[in-house]
Amino acid sequence: MLFIDLAAQQAAMGASLAERISAVLAHNHYILGPELSELESRLEKFTGAASCLGCASGSSALELALTAFGLGPGDAVITTPFTFVATAESIARTGATPVFVDIEPETLNLDARHLEPALVAIERGDQRVYPLPAQARSGRLRAAAIVTVDIFGRPCAYDAILGAAGKHGLRVLEDAAQSFGATWRHRLACNLGCDAAATSFFPTKPLGCYGDGGAVFTNDPEIAAMVDSLRYHGRASRDGKYDNVRPGMNGRLDTLQAAILLAKLEIFPREISLRQACARRYDSLIAGSGLPEAGLLPPPLPDEDGTDSVWAQYTVQLPPGCPRDDVADFLRRLQIPSAAHYPRGLHMQGAFAGLGYAAGDFPVTDQACARVLSLPMHPYLEEEAQARVISALESAVRECRPRTPETV
Ligand SMILES: *Cc1c(COP(=O)(O)O)cnc(C)c1O
Repeated sequence: MLFIDLAAQQAAMGASLAERISAVLAHNHYILGPELSELESRLEKFTGAASCLGCASGSSALELALTAFGLGPGDAVITTPFTFVATAESIARTGATPVFVDIEPETLNLDARHLEPALVAIERGDQRVYPLPAQARSGRLRAAAIVTVDIFGRPCAYDAILGAAGKHGLRVLEDAAQSFGATWRHRLACNLGCDAAATSFFPTKPLGCYGDGGAVFTNDPEIAAMVDSLRYHGRASRDGKYDNVRPGMNGRLDTLQAAILLAKLEIFPREISLRQACARRYDSLIAGSGLPEAGLLPPPLPDEDGTDSVWAQYTVQLPPGCPRDDVADFLRRLQIPSAAHYPRGLHMQGAFAGLGYAAGDFPVTDQACARVLSLPMHPYLEEEAQARVISALESAVRECRPRTPETV
């Protein structure tokens, strides 16, 4: 069994993939070729966002958007510690300071209820109000932005987040690396009312290319123009390659990747439905098993009409005290792959040791990190395979010996 089946996807694309690639090999415009602008306008139509700018990766998309916000030293940027490292890394690369807030226990998305206390703490430099990084404890940082993450493909609670951001004059960047194709109140991810969004086309994301790629989306023409300049070494204009007005980077999506994405985009709407159907089948298999009574937490159902995850991952939380490594080993022996997204919060990663956070600052994140297990998930996963996954998981959980102090 495969965790993600890219070969099945390749078969589903048929001849269009090779045709798209051959077209690039015929015209030889590998950088900013016609496929890039075609892809950008297709993705603008798909999301409804005014501007899409293809970038070299999801990480560069995040960094370009935050740089276009004008962030730098002295700015505090609020985000979640329960995410891939690139989210907070991109904040740090602008010179701003990441400030973490804890997550919701079920959705595992940033908990909007923590925004007010975190903002008060930043303003006063008082970590008795909310855990702060060392740099913010003097009260010299200014809260400037929020980076939300639609974890596992599920959009955050944007009404509460955008409400707080509006009240405090903060910019909002949606890290939609995992949620491209998801919906929130009938709107597509990357166009949910934030100042900008960044997505990733890493091969295993819901819309993936065959290498590194990403994109920035925005409805703000100034941000779009800035990202367009920054991704091309800060050039002055589209026809001024050797007139560089600001330090930028080489941050463009290349033409071949754009061509591959155009082929994938043809089957993407169907793949979204297949992913959602796959998640619903997992939901009902779990509901019909002994797992909920054993304390396993499935991902929560979408809570309103027109809202759904794109299921980049189907991630359960194992019963408290049930060792994940044992469960993963049990599954591996049955040729069932699984993964831990994420075993450690970013506040506990060496890369961010300089922020000086303490273990226990974000208890919901710590809990999730100990319990999460992602199951095989892709559009071509069949019901029979899913039934095997859930029945194996049930046996594994039945076998798992909670680690009490005597057995450690
Ligand atoms: C994958 C991912 C990124 C980074 O994307 P790359 O294309 O690998 O640079 C950023 N944020 C989140 C939440 C991701 O899952």
